[in-house]
Amino acid sequence: MKKTLPINEFVLRAKSGEISVEEHTQKILEEIKKSNPTYHYFNSVSEQLALAQAKELQKIVKEKKPGGKLFGVPVSVKDCICVKGVESTAGSKILEGYVPVFDATVVVRAIKEGAIIIGKTSQDEFGFGTFSTNTAPEKTPLNPFERERSCGGSSGGSAGYTAFSVFSHASIAESTGGSIACPASFCGAVGITPTYGRVSRYGLMDYASSLDKIGCISKTVQESALLLQCISGHDALDSTSLKNPVVDFSPDFLSAKNLRVGIVKEFFGAAVDKKVSDVVWGAVKKLESAGVKVEETSMPLNAKYGVSAYYLIAVSEASTNLARYCGMRYGLHGELEGNFDEYFSKVRSAGFSKEAKRRIILGTFARMSGFRDAFYLRAMKARTSLIKEFAGAFKKFDAIVHPAMPIVAPKFSKIKKLSPLQHYAMDLCTVPANLAGVRLNISRKGFQSEKKA
Ligand code: GLN
Repeated sequence: MKKTLPINEFVLRAKSGEISVEEHTQKILEEIKKSNPTYHYFNSVSEQLALAQAKELQKIVKEKKPGGKLFGVPVSVKDCICVKGVESTAGSKILEGYVPVFDATVVVRAIKEGAIIIGKTSQDEFGFGTFSTNTAPEKTPLNPFERERSCGGSSGGSAGYTAFSVFSHASIAESTGGSIACPASFCGAVGITPTYGRVSRYGLMDYASSLDKIGCISKTVQESALLLQCISGHDALDSTSLKNPVVDFSPDFLSAKNLRVGIVKEFFGAAVDKKVSDVVWGAVKKLESAGVKVEETSMPLNAKYGVSAYYLIAVSEASTNLARYCGMRYGLHGELEGNFDEYFSKVRSAGFSKEAKRRIILGTFARMSGFRDAFYLRAMKARTSLIKEFAGAFKKFDAIVHPAMPIVAPKFSKIKKLSPLQHYAMDLCTVPANLAGVRLNISRKGFQSEKKA
């Protein structure tokens, strides 16, 4: 990981005029333009918007009135989160050319704190994936440590660029079942998937509405805590957003002493690569020496049923959410020909990738009358049991620790050989917390690919 000026120090220096926000913005845009043809971290770069914002902020410095916790900080935004005036496609062909006329609430909030929006980061189409390979090849981000390896997914561009950039920067990302934890761990970045409802989803293109959460990826824990604080809070535009007051999240991780932490033994089993478990045990030892009380615990239901329950619920919700991209209301349009069914099929066949189609078909099947009880509703019942298992664990522990991914960042050549079920099985450790809606933190010395750049 390249060393950069931490965001809080950057903000102080930008406000004092010691660092020129305009120059810093120009430099980061140059870095993106130079690296993107090879690394594909961005689906679109919002150069004009960023430069205009930087100019405005520089004026404020001259007038000596700078405010905002993210003053002048370049912030990238996952492609599935709407940014006004900037093409936002969620990594899908069906949304190519879509330019939102409004900002997502998180974008409004970040800008209010002085953030500069530099572009939309690459991802698996609509978040469907674990390696950011379910999108066009020229939009698949490459791991900054070794280019033949994946950045993880689905927020691959956010994590990859965070690890790649030499400039102060943070990214607004999204997770449904692990899309922040996975790429953060594969790129050696920090990720935080907040509690469901903590951050407004207004302006997020839905994948599975009962699971989707907007969160942060950055180089350090403090930076993610700061960005999360800026984008959190109730929003009248999202009825699922929590009314809990927004607090300064930073002290949370400074007082580790006497915390009780449970180590979930099932997530250190045969499915987890020894390279990964060794790193996690190393981190556990550090926690112990910092005064944390560590104890082994068990979450058998989550380990056994998490992936199946997640994939049934996620694809069921996705199949209804994607119904809106029908060729009339949103997204790609075609020549109006044939009857409606023929027209819809033609547009959707052309606009969705193979993986999106697979999920639409699976999800529609799982919700169909006659199958609904056996699949969707059964998965929802299982989810309740999995949540109860978490509730039980949190009676005893303040936090639960386990690996994020069972493997280190794999090579693309290996990913190509995986079946869809093998892809889904990779989410073993990330889906439980996402199903339960609890917060998921990924610490930075995670599971980077073996060789450092
Ligand atoms: N890999 C998971 C999936 O494909 C997670 C995706 C996500 O969190 N957006 O569903």
